[in-house]
Order: sequence, then structure tokens, then C-alpha cells
Amino acid sequence: MFLSVFDVFKIGIGPSSSHTMGPMSAANRFLALILSAEWPRPAGAHVAALKVSLHGSLAFTGIGHGTGRAVILGLMGEEPASVDPDRMDAIIDEVERTGRVTPPGHPPYEFQPKTDLIFDKKQPLPGHANGMSFSAFDRDGRLLLKRIYYSIGGGFVVTDTELEAMRMPKKSSSDSRVPYPFSTAKQMLDMSRGSGLTIAQMKRANEETRMSAAELDAGLDRIWEAMRSCIDRGLKVDGIMPGGLKVKRRAKAIHDKLNEEWRSNRLNPLLANDWLSVYAMAVNEENAGGGRVVTAPTNGAAGVIPAAIRYYLHFHEDATDEDIRNFLLTAAAVGGIIKHNASISGAEVGCQGEVGSAAAMAAAGLAAVMGGSPEQIENAAEIALEHHLGMTCDPIAGLVQVPCIERNALGAVKAVTAASLAIKGDGTHFVPLDACIETMRQTGNDMSEKYKETSTGGLAVNVVEC
Ligand code: SF4
Repeated sequence: MFLSVFDVFKIGIGPSSSHTMGPMSAANRFLALILSAEWPRPAGAHVAALKVSLHGSLAFTGIGHGTGRAVILGLMGEEPASVDPDRMDAIIDEVERTGRVTPPGHPPYEFQPKTDLIFDKKQPLPGHANGMSFSAFDRDGRLLLKRIYYSIGGGFVVTDTELEAMRMPKKSSSDSRVPYPFSTAKQMLDMSRGSGLTIAQMKRANEETRMSAAELDAGLDRIWEAMRSCIDRGLKVDGIMPGGLKVKRRAKAIHDKLNEEWRSNRLNPLLANDWLSVYAMAVNEENAGGGRVVTAPTNGAAGVIPAAIRYYLHFHEDATDEDIRNFLLTAAAVGGIIKHNASISGAEVGCQGEVGSAAAMAAAGLAAVMGGSPEQIENAAEIALEHHLGMTCDPIAGLVQVPCIERNALGAVKAVTAASLAIKGDGTHFVPLDACIETMRQTGNDMSEKYKETSTGGLAVNVVEC
């Protein structure tokens, strides 16, 4: 199994990797397919119109998550990493006004969002809770091409065939094309003992089979730069977040207060928690506002890892660029194991798979840069994940705001506590990380659909929207 650090950490836009970035990428995949020779195109047939239907969790919470907007932008050829958040409204207005999409390199296609973009709450697709069906028609309304895609969390999009292949028995899944093909935490620790390398060094060696060391470093630095700028923007903006819940942005006001306390040397016994929380909330407020964020491993959980890194830098003035790279590589190693053996999708396993995974990854990264051994790093990840087990996904009004923003703050606090506990021990511990990941998978399977990003249970039905 090999999941690149750049698959785990992807620069994109908010508010959701599975409900915004995934559908935008799926639309782009479908556009590329239309131009390709990979389907039996009847002689003389030309695609003239498109239709899209969204199913399962995408249908239930798609409006709050901006899924419809993401599909329209994707059909206009926009991609998560490069779309300009300031131009999105204008692009969508144009499609609604003209009733067609005009992606670069394609002829215009008829697409009237009101009728051609369907939120189908009745018929989930069989493969995954986040299903999408894209269809292309000729001028006479004849169906030419249809594809099902699934957005499986963290911005990853697969076809139904790819999903089936992913679900094949995992015994043969170790990827021998990389020098350290670990797909479980146990394998990771065994390989580390056998090689004498740290987790970050093994992950680096795997990545360097695909790119040079300089490219890897530059990419990691770009990821941290995008995370850092996201925090900085989130700390400067206040006001009300979009979507209708009228939730206030709080990060700026809290940050101003903390800065004032810091400058005046006032004693604050909650100092560490406050800084961690404000950094995480800044990211998730940006995400809720549709701003530029990095999946870590998802958008909904995007605040935990940047908060833990920024916190580390805040209190460790001697930290280096190499520390940040090692943090990201270690976190990605753990995230890859979780994704491979369970899920990072709230629609599949609840929030334990999103904020729980992010906390495990952050705890691992932090333990690594604080000098933890591979065993202590594995312990840190396990502690953080264990104490998110069973956590449901029930965002109010389908918006990635409540409980998501504060939940990231709490996830960051748990991650730091987990790292701290782990590095005070000797690495031996009771519950292996692999057992904890398997528990998360089983708990997610048993969890009612109400608590898996459908906003039909939990806080979403017990808090009156005003
Ligand atoms: S509750 Fe958790 S999993 Fe659900 S949308 Fe919010 S952050 Fe994502």
C-alpha cells in the first residue's frame, strides 16, 4: 500500500473534502472521459447536454456543504487546488444565467442547475454513502455516457470499478515498489526496527521513489505554507459565516485577546489549550467560509494538524523546516494506515474517522518532532484515536460549522495530550494502534446512518435553527 503524503495533504477549498473537493474532481474526471476514447461513442454522436445526480450523504447535506456549487464549478473545468474562491460566485451565476457549462477545451454543454442537478435523497448508490452519477446526452436527448463516482473522503474520488478493486482482500496490498511498504502499524514498527530508520525517514524513502528529495521538500514546504496562510487569514477575519446558521467567527477575537495577554505577560493557566484552539478554529472558520485549506486528512478536520504544528512552533523557537517536514511525513504515514484499514470519511464511519484520524496523525507528528521513538509515536496516535472512538457526524443544517469548528480545537488539544502522555512512557502500551483502527472501522459499520454526515440525527435534529 502506498499513499503519498500529497494524497493525504491536498490544497483545495472549503467547506468539505468529500462534499466539495471530491464532487468538483469527479466533474473534472467526467469531462476528461467525454474527450477520451475510453467509451463506445456512436458514430457521429456529440455530447450536447449533461445531468448530474447526487445520492446518499451528498444529497442530504450537499446544499450545506456546497456540493452543488462544487459540481457546477467542476463542470466549468475548475479544480480544487486552483479555483479562485473570489471568482466562484461569478462562475456559478454565469452557468445559472446561460443554462450551460463551458469548460476549456470542450464545446458548450447544456446544463441548467435547477433541473439538471438533482439531490436524490431517496436512492442511495450501492458502493458508498457519497455517490454521484454523471450523464451525457446528445442533442436529441439520447444517453451517450453515464458514470458513477464515489467521493470516499479526503477529496479522493473513485469509480464503482475502482471502489470494488479497493475492497478486494488486502493481503496482497503491500506495495513492493516502495522500500518500506507498510500497511499496518505493526509492519511500520517492524520495518523501523529492521532498518533503524524513523517513521519519517521510511516515509521519505517511499516518497523518493516517485520524486527527488528536493521536489519532496518543496512540496512539503508548500503544504505547510498553505496551512500557515490559512491560519493567518482565519485569525484576521471576523463576521458571520455563510449558510444561514448565523454562526459568528470567533478566532480573531480570541487571538486578539491572547496576544494582549502574551504581550502583558499575564498569567494564563489555559495558555496551551487557548493557542491550540484558536489556531484550529481559524482554519475551520476559513474552511466553513469556502476558503483555501489543506485536507488533513479531510477539510472538516483540517484544523487539527496545522494547529498542532503552529503550537509546536509557537513554543519551540528552535524548530526547523526539517521538523515540519518530519511532522507531515509521520502524520501522513499514520493517516495512510488508517485510510487503508478503516476510513477517513465521516459519511462512512462518523467523525471518529475525520477528527479522530486527524488527532491521531497530529499526535504522531508531534511525538516525532519531540524526539519520540517509533513505538512512542505509534502509542501517541493510538491514544488520540482511542479517545475519539464512537464519535458521530451530525453537523447542524449540513454545514461544516457546528460542531465541526470547536471539534477541531478539541481534537488538537487531545492530540497534544496524547503525544505528551506517549513520550513520557517507554512506548509499551495496552491497545495496539492497529486494534484501535479496526475498532473504529467496526464501530463505523455499526453506526446508524443518522450519524454519518446525513444531518438526520444527533445535534442536527436537537438544536433549533434560528
Ligand atoms: S462532524 Fe466531524 S465528520 Fe462531520 S462534518 Fe463535522 S468535522 Fe466532518
